[in-house]
Amino acid sequence: MNDQGLSEKEIFSYLENVKSEDTDYYRVLSSMCTHPHKIAVEAHRLFIEANLGDLGLFAGARRLENEVIKMLGELLHAQAVETPSYNSYGSSVCGYLTTGGTESNIQAVRGMKNLATAGRKKLGHTPNIVIPESAHFSFDKVADIMGIEIRRALLDSEFKVDTASVESLIDANTIGLVGIAGNTEFGQIDPIEELAKLALENELFLHVDAAFGGFVIPFLENPCPFDFKIPGVTSIAIDPHKMGLSTIPSGALLFRSPSFLDSLKVDTPYLTTKAQFTLTGTRSGASAAATYAVMKHLGREGYTKNVQYCMQLTNKIVEEARKFGFEPLIEPVMNVVALKVPNPDLMREQLLEKFGWNVSITRDPRSLRLVLMPHNTARDVEEFLQDLKKVTAEL
Ligand SMILES: *Cc1c(COP(=O)(O)O)cnc(C)c1O
Repeated sequence: MNDQGLSEKEIFSYLENVKSEDTDYYRVLSSMCTHPHKIAVEAHRLFIEANLGDLGLFAGARRLENEVIKMLGELLHAQAVETPSYNSYGSSVCGYLTTGGTESNIQAVRGMKNLATAGRKKLGHTPNIVIPESAHFSFDKVADIMGIEIRRALLDSEFKVDTASVESLIDANTIGLVGIAGNTEFGQIDPIEELAKLALENELFLHVDAAFGGFVIPFLENPCPFDFKIPGVTSIAIDPHKMGLSTIPSGALLFRSPSFLDSLKVDTPYLTTKAQFTLTGTRSGASAAATYAVMKHLGREGYTKNVQYCMQLTNKIVEEARKFGFEPLIEPVMNVVALKVPNPDLMREQLLEKFGWNVSITRDPRSLRLVLMPHNTARDVEEFLQDLKKVTAEL
């Protein structure tokens, strides 16, 4: 660290310089995040110092968090509990705001583990969970942190998890299942209803990872069921900082019943509240404000328009790519496209080097992965297609 402080001017001239090294999402077709809505940014600034780690001091930010969880609960059909259930704060709110999908997934599995070891089931040496082969890499972290065995079920030809494979992996030490509603690589939705049936039959928890899909699927023309409407779904991860257009870090974890949160409780002797069920201690109240603001501002109508826009771009890319012989691996379910192309790795390299496009690659099979986000425009898509054509011709 320097001995003497630099002037604001010096610092900002450096920061602005460095910022130019970041891509501003222009020609980015590989990201599940985007520019936050300007309303979210304003709200974030207004609550910049609020710490949700100490709820008693930040009653306003706490109220906003509760409102966001209520809105998300409604979106995901969580409110239809007949007997109200309460967590240890006496609150009927059924979740909390996390830093993103990774934390939500970690906490969901931690909850499963705590509840399963609290006597619901006799466990052998290592508890296991069954997840789809297509699950996000955050589950590798789950395995590492929690000493849980992760069993990966095969996918069917549509890149949905094969429920027969899931069933074959369940044994006496299985504590839960995971389904993905909008997987990161293909944008595919697992058969959540079938997984839920398996979960109920075997008395297992079922966590749905809708980190990306949570702000997409409900706004599609024909949304397929994936949320608490399905009996057997016990928790859901949904990320406002992806298609929710909120600021980073805004994730959320919701449980079917608020009492599930109690399985994550630790005592917090020197804070204004007696217990905490979050993974992080100090927690951004700004995220709560940002998410509240953008959800209220856009409403269902705004999010529907947002999803329609991204789907139009998606359909356009697929339609045009077909004209020069590239088929998608699956008919896009949401705004993610996996294109079968010759030599995807080389193509990715050339698209970046020659034309500045950021695209990514699916692991198995290797294909060109494109995510069409609100920062992309119809014109970008046209230019991209032309550049793709040029790159293809040279290969
Ligand atoms: C993005 C994503 C995650 C991880 O979320 P972070 O916010 O990056 O922690 C988890 N699961 C799915 C399906 C995702 O798309």
